[in-house]
Amino acid sequence: MCSKLRISSADRQEMGKKSKRRGVNAGKKSAVGASRSNGRCGGDETAIVADADSRALALPQAPSVSTNVTPITAAAAAEQLGSMSLGESVERKVAPEDTEKKDDEALAKLCSGCGKKSDTLKMCHGCQCVWYCDKNGADCLERHREEHEKECRRIKEVLDKRGGNLDVGTEIDIGPLEKLPPQEECLICRCTMPIYERLQMYYECCGNIVCRSCSTMHISKTGELNLKRSRDLEREVPPLPVVCPFCRITLRRSDEEVLSLLRKRVELKDPYATCELALLYGYGSRGLPVDQERCVVLLREAADLGCPRASSRLGSCHDFGEMGLEQNKDEACKHWKKAAEGGHFYAMFVHGNYVGLSGDHVAALRHFRLSAAGGHRGSMGTLMTCFFINGFLRHRDLAETLQAMYLARAEEKSEHRDEYNKLLKETGEYNDPYDM
Ligand SMILES: [Zn+2]
Ligand SMILES: [Zn+2]
Ligand SMILES: [Zn+2]
Ligand SMILES: [Zn+2]
Repeated sequence: MCSKLRISSADRQEMGKKSKRRGVNAGKKSAVGASRSNGRCGGDETAIVADADSRALALPQAPSVSTNVTPITAAAAAEQLGSMSLGESVERKVAPEDTEKKDDEALAKLCSGCGKKSDTLKMCHGCQCVWYCDKNGADCLERHREEHEKECRRIKEVLDKRGGNLDVGTEIDIGPLEKLPPQEECLICRCTMPIYERLQMYYECCGNIVCRSCSTMHISKTGELNLKRSRDLEREVPPLPVVCPFCRITLRRSDEEVLSLLRKRVELKDPYATCELALLYGYGSRGLPVDQERCVVLLREAADLGCPRASSRLGSCHDFGEMGLEQNKDEACKHWKKAAEGGHFYAMFVHGNYVGLSGDHVAALRHFRLSAAGGHRGSMGTLMTCFFINGFLRHRDLAETLQAMYLARAEEKSEHRDEYNKLLKETGEYNDPYDM
């Protein structure tokens, strides 16, 4: 009865464009430092990829979708869903006749290209999921094409197979999109912090985190200033040191200095510093000997202090039997769950896989949906290829999630970050399969 559906790596590939997010999932921007590592994706992601690829979500058999679908009647849909094992949390409601119209109206509010509200928005006819400013106003559709292309094509293929029907009648009512966990912003550029940890920079001197592009730009600006001073004074002057933009302590630090600053912050119960120090021990960095036991102790400490990043690391260690821990999927699941509850978008994705495999596909759907809405592309891929294609996710719910994802990703974008990330990708320093 069950069909095995793979979440292939091809399902998580795409890139982004620019706009600004306002109004959707409001209530963002937590106090800096309060939930330091919220929603951040682990640097261990590459380690997970292989495993995630091999995970197969056992979904209930979907209704076969032919090119000439006669819409399934409400009664037939209810009967079909009634025979499926969808887990405990499912509420099987058949949508009333007029819901589609109302939801379409509710969705048609924001341009996915620029984030603006307008009365003259035009729907993308391919996927019928997103809206753009009228051509007379701005070229939002064109600018957003690269970001939207792959999702648009994939959704359109499904709709075409359904003879243009948005839904097949077996979709599950999963309720409204949950509110996103609070997101931090970079203290320098004020854009939402990238969800991928490798794109963040932690200053162990004062415990502040900025985006890596700002941190790099800050260093190069000091260099430019030094050149300018020499030019202005028409002689060689001793260069100004590169200092932390917040506490003005020099950033050229020896390993001993870094460790000493980190340890001070660990004493202050800084969750992020505790997690950082744990990883230095785990991998024997900064001149430390490899000490996996110490790494795990510190990771647990950081997780207890409310660091979702540390929880996700523990999940990963239990998942693969790393850092001297035994492979234990139950333990792994607990840590992934904790990280997901802390707002870690990648952990939501992994935990979604766990609960999906355990049979609760509705809970899985909710995890993937929230994670995608936070900007995680892998989760969007799963929503499309495991749930929407097979008639479990309503088109309007997919559309709502897709719009939220674009807005979340737009909030993370700036010209400077785009440039910087492109450079990182070219040099192979950053190639996250979930971010492409
Ligand atoms: Zn627009
Ligand atoms: Zn489209
Ligand atoms: Zn920044
Ligand atoms: Zn500092």
